[in-house]
Amino acid sequence: MKIGFIGLGNMGAPMAVNLANAGHEVTGFDLVASAPEGVTQAATLLDAVLHQEAIITMLPNGEILRDVAANVIDGMAPNTLFIDCSTVDVGSARAVAELITALGHDVVDAPVSGGTVGAEAGTLTFMAGGRPEAFARAAPLLDIMGQKAVHCGDAGAGQAAKICNNMILGITMIGTCEAFALADKLGLDRQAMYDVVSTSSGQSWSMTTYCPAPGVGPTSPSDNDYKPGFAAELMLKDLDLSQQAADEAGAATALGKMAAEMYRAFVEGGGKGQDFSAMLPHLSKVER
Ligand code: NAD
Repeated sequence: MKIGFIGLGNMGAPMAVNLANAGHEVTGFDLVASAPEGVTQAATLLDAVLHQEAIITMLPNGEILRDVAANVIDGMAPNTLFIDCSTVDVGSARAVAELITALGHDVVDAPVSGGTVGAEAGTLTFMAGGRPEAFARAAPLLDIMGQKAVHCGDAGAGQAAKICNNMILGITMIGTCEAFALADKLGLDRQAMYDVVSTSSGQSWSMTTYCPAPGVGPTSPSDNDYKPGFAAELMLKDLDLSQQAADEAGAATALGKMAAEMYRAFVEGGGKGQDFSAMLPHLSKVER
């Protein structure tokens, strides 16, 4: 396929490379980054869009996505497939889908889980929203960039699934870190704590797979001086999106709100650039 790829940052560049390596003709555009090897550099945004069968975006936020969509729409060939893989607010995903489907194109919102490691290895998980026919068209491309793609429903459903998942993740990570900090103060050995909780009712992915305590459980960013992994500021972004969605939908998410406040305090207090599991050393220093 002829593919235009917009947003060649930490995630977009390796995803575009994987599509090119699979034999697709990929043309890339980014305001700052240049196209990686195997991807043709477009001089302008419009050059990346003209005569393509599919457009893929991997951009920082919903405002930028809306802006890019409004700017490319007139240059898109008839019946183009537009896939947005960025993490954005549900409202922006739905607005962009409405704008683009109105002109007869197919649109899929397909945010990812798996981070830069998954982007490079082609093992991302995609959570997709859009019409079934649009998802069926997107699936072969998602299969190259990832190992799993779940069709979650109509436009915006992929973004909804992503922020709900990450709201759980933020809350369970804080819960796990608070429990370790309390266990420390009670004189409980961290390994004993892990051995009990990872096989008991307090277990979660945050404990068993991504344990925030160094030297305990499988290797995780805590064993690498809390280098991300998944940076604390990206967790904050997703928690803020969950609260924006909860406000709009009128959903009671008291713990999600608290998790967003705690990650904001952590990020603004020096946690930026650290893995989100560095909430443990941060909480260990916080006074009751
Ligand atoms: P990034 O900042 O490395 O890349 C974004 C790129 O978009 C940048 O290179 C920037 O120059 C470019 N850009 C901005 N405005 C543009 C415009 N108008 N036209 C063209 N290019 C433009 O960010 P990233 O880490 O690659 O993340 C991209 C998206 O993926 C975000 O929505 C993020 O939340 C999501 N995400 C990231 C991770 C991760 O671990 N990094 C994991 C899951 C999801």
